[in-house]
Amino acid sequence: MTWVERDAAVVWHGFTQMAAYAENLPVIVEAGEGRELIDVAGNRYLDAISSLWVTTLGHRVPELDDAVRGQLDRIAHSTMLGNGNRVVIELSEALAAVVPVDGPHFLYAGDGATAVEQALKIAFQYWVNRGEPRTGFVGLGGAYHGDTIGALSLGDRGFGTTIFEPLLFPVRRAATVEDAVDAVLRGGDELAAVIVEPLVQAANAMAMLDPGALADLGAACAETGVLLICDEVATGFGRTGTLFASEQCGLRPDLLVLGKGMSGGYLPLSATVAADRVFRAFLGPDLSDRTLYHGHSYGGNALACAVALRHLQLLEEWDVLANVRAREAQLRAGLDEAVAPLAAVGDVRLRGLMGGVDLLAPRPDLRWGRRVCAAAVRRGVLLRPIGDTVILMAPLTLSAEEADRIVTVLRDAILEVCRP
Ligand SMILES: *Cc1c(COP(=O)(O)O)cnc(C)c1O
Repeated sequence: MTWVERDAAVVWHGFTQMAAYAENLPVIVEAGEGRELIDVAGNRYLDAISSLWVTTLGHRVPELDDAVRGQLDRIAHSTMLGNGNRVVIELSEALAAVVPVDGPHFLYAGDGATAVEQALKIAFQYWVNRGEPRTGFVGLGGAYHGDTIGALSLGDRGFGTTIFEPLLFPVRRAATVEDAVDAVLRGGDELAAVIVEPLVQAANAMAMLDPGALADLGAACAETGVLLICDEVATGFGRTGTLFASEQCGLRPDLLVLGKGMSGGYLPLSATVAADRVFRAFLGPDLSDRTLYHGHSYGGNALACAVALRHLQLLEEWDVLANVRAREAQLRAGLDEAVAPLAAVGDVRLRGLMGGVDLLAPRPDLRWGRRVCAAAVRRGVLLRPIGDTVILMAPLTLSAEEADRIVTVLRDAILEVCRP
């Protein structure tokens, strides 16, 4: 049996039709090096989707490998429920100095969706603890916040998740950021919180949001007391050219959600960051009902926190954000010159190293997005589409040569596949 056959026999892949899995020629990774993945046959692929948006500095980064090894010699994991761990404290102190949150307190989890759930429950209980219960939440059109039931409720469906509708709780859907501002200003005393993905809605085929409108939303929240939740699971840790996208919109959220790139793409780690004013509403007598009764078994995993701490230091030591901005300029110029003018290409968007290239497929059943990405994979660049948009999410340490390779390969793949 081949690796693909063995895989398809026992592994169930998320967001993947398993009946078609093998035909779509999946890459079976055995190792990685720098920005490249190496498959079981020894072929190399530039990881231009950062392993679904988590990898930041690359694979097998010696400094990050050492951070995991060093922590292994101390302890791999100990619980955060009622007790602490040295490296979790050190990570929290380091993050506290850089997150755009006033008086931050960190509640750790393992995935973005679980950190969104935490934010949702904290926002709800915040109002209960203040003696003015509120159940209203506002979410944006096109939003994605993860796949658990609460996170799906906050998101705007899509990806075939509409069937779960009967299980979801109602959320006020604002078509635009401007509508969300209105909803907050007119929400009255039923509105608990509004949740947004600052600057880029990655899962919405890299839709870009206007920083000025987002700043207005922050102002509306500050004016009304409605909690602002910023979901930076995708945008956090440098992807948009600043450490956090909230900075570019002048936002200081009451609750900030972090995940994906937090551990450099090494280990599952996420966090819900609460501003001091939110945190304080939960203080009270021991065992009282003001307590947040929520916690995940592996939240604050020591190995994950050790690598996250080293990762945060390296972002600074290597001036990674300068590279993000240089590669952004290079990619933009390359895409404008070689990709945007193609007849099959519509809008091309890029913010930092988060990009989307719309293909103008005459019919969806031509599966241009899927086929262009497959053609890129054959040329050694791993891409994955959302519908007919090719998603670009390169690691933050991308080299100039690699940026050129992405542009050239994408152009060649489009020219091969997209014939009217
Ligand atoms: C990926 C993502 C999530 C969910 O994170 P998981 O780790 O996949 O659960 C939530 N919000 C945004 C903006 C994301 O991109």
